[in-house]
Order: sequence, then structure tokens, then C-alpha cells
Amino acid sequence: MLNLILFGPPGAGKGTQSEKIIAKYKLIHLSTGDLLRSEIQKGSELGLKAKTLMDQGILVPDEVVIGMIENKLKEHKGSPGFIFDGFPRTVAQSEALDALLKSYDERISVMIALVVDDNELLTRLLNRGKTSGRPDDQNEALISKRIHEYNSKTMPVAEYYRLQDKYVAINGIGDIEEIFDAISKAIDAHT
Ligand code: AMP
Repeated sequence: MLNLILFGPPGAGKGTQSEKIIAKYKLIHLSTGDLLRSEIQKGSELGLKAKTLMDQGILVPDEVVIGMIENKLKEHKGSPGFIFDGFPRTVAQSEALDALLKSYDERISVMIALVVDDNELLTRLLNRGKTSGRPDDQNEALISKRIHEYNSKTMPVAEYYRLQDKYVAINGIGDIEEIFDAISKAIDAHT
């Protein structure tokens, strides 16, 4: 199996690159942000609770996203692999993911980190907010809060995988195809 983590701050291009990776490597896409937004749309209790936090740019509790990932891994047992997008976002989530994969005799193959500076992220997200309809893309204070959450709670996840020799950083600014090329090379080198 190829189990890939696509890592990076909000606005780094994870969604765009995920689509291209999935098309080429036939992986199952697991985005906790998408899963949470679909719960909100369904109006489920989980969705309602998550929405309050998401609307403030704050991470939802670890056990909520870990539970969702656990269900999806079960649902897609036997698939050629997974691309984790927007997950894990804390070290506790990383540890839980490693344990879950281990229970299937599997492991993370590689973490690809898209590197984009904070100013560029702010510009991209404000732009995306014009069409995405996402409440959390609408104003600068909220976007800054999300970037702050990333820098304080999520950055340590990179170190966690670096220590396992699985971390590859890729410049996330530039031509989409060139970025995808660099990602493909990194994936191929780890499989
Ligand atoms: P995203 O679509 O990945 O930008 O996520 C949107 C929002 O969903 C985040 O700002 C968090 O509030 C929440 N969220 C998504 N994934 C996670 C995660 N792995 N851990 C905690 N909160 C998450």
C-alpha cells in the first residue's frame, strides 16, 4: 500500500495537488476538513459541534477526527492506499494514525509537506473565500487564527515524521504542474 500524508498550512495547495495525486496513484482521499463539512451539511450532532470550532478557526478535538479516520480505513479496507489531507494535525493524531495503520499491518510511506509563506497563504485564502463559500475563508482575522493554529499545534507533526525519515519538503509556490512533478518524484522515491 501507498499511504501518503499531504501536509501543509491552510491554502498551501493540498486540495489541488490531492486531486492530481489521486488520479495518478489511485489512492483513496481522506480529508478530515471535507468529512467534517459533510457532517455539517447533514446536520448531524457531530457536525453541529464541529461547526462552532471550525467557524472560529480552531481545531476540533483529536478523538473526533481520529474516529472518522478509523471508520474510513475500515470502510476502504483492501484499497491500494490512502492520501491523508489535513490529517494528522496534532502529534496525538499522528500517534493514533500510526497505531491504526499498524493494526492493519500498514504504515505511512511518506509525508509530503508543501511549503508556502504566511503572506502568500493569506492572499490565497482571501481569494479562495470569494468563491469557496467557506465561512472560515472570509476574513483576515479568522485566516490568521487558522495559520496560528497550524504553526502552534500542527508544525510538530512534521518533526514527528522527520524523525522517522519520512518527511519531504516541497516548495508550494509556482507552477501547479511543476509542483506535482516534484511530488511524484518524492512519492516514487519512497515506494
Ligand atoms: P481544512 O478543510 O483542512 O482547512 O479544515 C477546516 C477546519 O476543520 C479546520 O480549521 C479545523 O477546525 C477542522 N479540522 C479539519 N481537519 C482537522 C484535524 N485533523 N484536526 C482538527 N481539526 C480539523
